[in-house]
Amino acid sequence: MTRPVLIAGAGIGGLTLGLALAQRGLSSEIFERAPALDEVGAGVQLAPNASRILDGLGLGPALDAVSCRPEGVAISDAPSGSRLKTLPLGAAAERRWGAPYRVIHRADLQAALSAAVDANPSLRLTLGVRVLTAGDGLDGASLEIETGGERRTVDGSFVVGADGLRSVVRQAVKLPEAVRATGLIAHRTVLTAEALPEAIPLTHVSVWLAPGAHMVVYPVRAGREANVVLIGALGATTPEERVARWAAPARKLVAAAPRWTEWPLFDRAPAARMRRGRVALIGDAAHAALPSLGQGAAFAIEDAAVLARVLGDGAPDPLAAYETARIMRAMRLPEASRRQIAIDHMGGLAARARNLALAATPASALLRGLDWIYGWRDG
Ligand SMILES: Cc1cc2nc3c(=O)[nH]c(=O)nc-3n(C[C@H](O)[C@H](O)[C@H](O)COP(=O)(O)OP(=O)(O)OC[C@H]3O[C@@H](n4cnc5c(N)ncnc54)[C@H](O)[C@@H]3O)c2cc1C
Repeated sequence: MTRPVLIAGAGIGGLTLGLALAQRGLSSEIFERAPALDEVGAGVQLAPNASRILDGLGLGPALDAVSCRPEGVAISDAPSGSRLKTLPLGAAAERRWGAPYRVIHRADLQAALSAAVDANPSLRLTLGVRVLTAGDGLDGASLEIETGGERRTVDGSFVVGADGLRSVVRQAVKLPEAVRATGLIAHRTVLTAEALPEAIPLTHVSVWLAPGAHMVVYPVRAGREANVVLIGALGATTPEERVARWAAPARKLVAAAPRWTEWPLFDRAPAARMRRGRVALIGDAAHAALPSLGQGAAFAIEDAAVLARVLGDGAPDPLAAYETARIMRAMRLPEASRRQIAIDHMGGLAARARNLALAATPASALLRGLDWIYGWRDG
């Protein structure tokens, strides 16, 4: 019997990889340090490039029961409250990119993924296990793990680091460990749909742009709740202070929020490597980026799909094939995300020029600019 693929981390990337491997008849073991998979309250946008893969794994009906398909993206100037642009999503996204644009609560996404994992006999998920190191051999790879104070080594065919921003598996790939501080912080909250001001309808993903900050609002829990992310400079500023000069609907929304969680934001400089020997990295472990394009989880899902394909194909050096397929795209994400946030946070004359350009550019041209992200297909 072939040895399993060993996966460090049961985040969105690790769980998707386990399912994608199982679909191709390959067994895997996932080790997760958390004692339970209970995502904190927040949302995630599943753009068509991610939805296409999750649908291919048979998760579409489970996701549709708890997610929403927004009609469009409504971009507003936060200080004046005026609408700068509306981009169509919904059926238009599905026509253009061949898969739905969904927005979902992370707990619902994780529940759908872990239910599929539990139902699948060819993959095993063990919680409460910390991965300490990854080892690389000529005909296999291993993980040193710790559980209940005891250490042991498990052997497998390959090791995959799906262990997020602070990946320990990265060491085995001989990549720099340091993350980049971005000087930004995300405040996140979830509120009931009724608490939202009318000017911020849950039919759309609403994006509010201000000098040095922006806010994104979209529906989760099948439209019963709204996910809110407010991003600005790290410091002692509260969400209320951050939006004090914004238009009334944004201020009302922020005042209605029950409680906020804080996420200082980090990313990683693009690295020209995603594997070494029989060890590979996926998701944030490989290419952590600012959330301004809403693509970190989506890229982890893409990585998982490609890695499962090359391992399933039985190519002589599958991890080299994986890296070749992914590296250019993986290196593009952190820098594209930084550029996007610089545009979103423009102030003064630059912001006025951006707003004029947004108003003057046809929606079709703006959608074309997103094709490289949402239109991605493996192979
Ligand atoms: C404010 C914000 C908004 C975002 N919005 C979006 C969005 O709308 N769309 C989108 O696509 N992305 C979004 N992202 C990015 C997305 O959340 C991440 O890119 C994604 O979760 C990365 O998935 P992952 O599986 O690579 O890593 P993670 O989700 O970080 O999972 C890593 C897992 O590994 C486990 N682990 C870590 N170390 C060890 C160890 N030593 N041993 C065992 N287990 C370990 C962790 O406990 C965790 O479960 C957002 C991020 C932020 C901060």
